[in-house]
Amino acid sequence: MTHILRDKAALRSWRAALPPDRRLGFVPTMGALHDGHMSLMVQARAASDVVITSIFVNPLQFGPNEDLSRYPRPIEADIARLEAAGVDALFLPSVEDMYPQGASTLVEENLVSLPLCGAERPGHFRGVTTVVLKLFNLVQPHVAVFGQKDAQQCAVIERMVRDLDVPVEIKRGPIVREADGLALSSRNIYLSAEDRAAAPLIFESLKTAEKAFGAGERDSATLAAIGQDVLARSGRIKPQYWEVRDPESLGAIATVGARGALLAVAAHLGTTRLIDNLLLGGDA
Ligand code: AMP
Repeated sequence: MTHILRDKAALRSWRAALPPDRRLGFVPTMGALHDGHMSLMVQARAASDVVITSIFVNPLQFGPNEDLSRYPRPIEADIARLEAAGVDALFLPSVEDMYPQGASTLVEENLVSLPLCGAERPGHFRGVTTVVLKLFNLVQPHVAVFGQKDAQQCAVIERMVRDLDVPVEIKRGPIVREADGLALSSRNIYLSAEDRAAAPLIFESLKTAEKAFGAGERDSATLAAIGQDVLARSGRIKPQYWEVRDPESLGAIATVGARGALLAVAAHLGTTRLIDNLLLGGDA
């Protein structure tokens, strides 16, 4: 049975009652759970004895013109999925419980969080690092699993954990996709039928650049142009960025070398913003 912990006090008593020799795995989410989320629960289970997840649509990481109010919240279906998967506990706090009136402290990473989504969504990663550090302090997991789908989020959290000596091991789970390549996302349900039909071009743009890389192309600008050309096949896709970046620092690179590269894309389809990425192996 999944224990449903609806506030910090309930979480603290549940946590305090865990035997100290039990390894605790944690998967933070915003809910509207899909197979991508569930794959992280499986990974957390393999790395620990007890698995807890959280569902919290964090207002701090949404910009003023973003989709906070319409973000899907199918909580009954989510709980049923967690029960079926044998997840031990769900932390389901309210906004008021997480952010008491007068809270005035924020956590900010100032390098990895700046480009890509950080540039397009000011304040987004500050909201992410603030809530994730709070969740780590509350849950006190031994290991936490994040999806490679949000590669920049992974990089920012790994930095935060390293820089602030947070005692947790971070694991990344691979991207889970639909049969046609579209990365699973809670936001895919917003897509119109026409936009849904065009959306697999996002992954195809990454695969096409990867193929060129496999054939020997190492120039970042050329690889990006190849990817952008694929996106341009549908007039419905409005790219925000299509970038070749260092896989760890996310800094710009002129050529792909021994460290490999992260191909990262963000695009709008209608009012929906989708992201995807692909790691290129290094030459070393
Ligand atoms: P979210 O609910 O969107 O905040 O996502 C919660 C966690 O699930 C994050 O670590 C995401 O990176 C991860 N995630 C989202 N989509 C996928 C996917 N398609 N494959 C793997 N992990 C995912």
